[in-house]
Amino acid sequence: MKIVVKSSELRRDSPCAFVPTMGALHAGHASLVTKAHEFTDHVIMSIFVNPLQFENPNDLARYPRTPENDIELAANSGVSELWLPHYDEIYPAEIEKISAGFLGTLYEGATRPGHFDGVLTVVQRLFDLVKPRWAVFGEKDFQQLTLIRTLRSDVKIVGAPTIRDIDGLALSSRNILLGEKREHALVISQALFAASRESDLTQAQIVLHNILASDPEFRKDYAEIIDESPGVKRAIVAGWVNGVRLIDNMSMERISS
Ligand code: AMP
Repeated sequence: MKIVVKSSELRRDSPCAFVPTMGALHAGHASLVTKAHEFTDHVIMSIFVNPLQFENPNDLARYPRTPENDIELAANSGVSELWLPHYDEIYPAEIEKISAGFLGTLYEGATRPGHFDGVLTVVQRLFDLVKPRWAVFGEKDFQQLTLIRTLRSDVKIVGAPTIRDIDGLALSSRNILLGEKREHALVISQALFAASRESDLTQAQIVLHNILASDPEFRKDYAEIIDESPGVKRAIVAGWVNGVRLIDNMSMERISS
């Protein structure tokens, strides 16, 4: 694996698949690299903690950073080039800011104003510099994936399933911040799995809300079953445990209407 700081040092000899991340890498990120290998062996991963998508400066300051572990995990997962850009290359003086529009104001965007504008702006910039043919994103950040799919047509956006710990908790760079309160985060995936076993929408909503309410250490932001596409339902959940914001989602395959 080659480590690159300037995008001009990236190989241009074959179409690449791109995996953008903010580091503090875990098996979820590695799974995106595995997915990318379905398209090409030329897999570029970036690590850039994007200040523009943090509406809260404290959240940015405490975002986990594990650079040594990241290099090892990236190399072991099959990344060919690990790109660690400097802030000035991503954000020179003049850059076009992208608006995420109405969808960007719902759910995550309602609690984190401007978050998705920051996400789309950095992804657009990263795509301009890397010029990938494919880019892989996790379903874990479902609203993000949905918005990125609308960004441009020259990059094929590929979604990859959520990787979970053995006890169901969706892997996240933020999980390390949960400390000894980690067990209280399990209520999220427990609620999602239980709701996904229901075939009636109202019953699924009741199950989702009741299980989330059963742990007083979980503070709900939203928990909804939305129409992912006509006839396809997905439950999306966000909330806080020990001051750490967590999100998760799951397809509700048994609900037909
Ligand atoms: P992040 O470093 O958190 O910005 O995430 C970088 C990419 O990894 C995004 O496309 C995320 O959706 C994806 N990702 C994060 N957690 C998981 C997970 N548990 N399973 C699969 N993909 C994930």
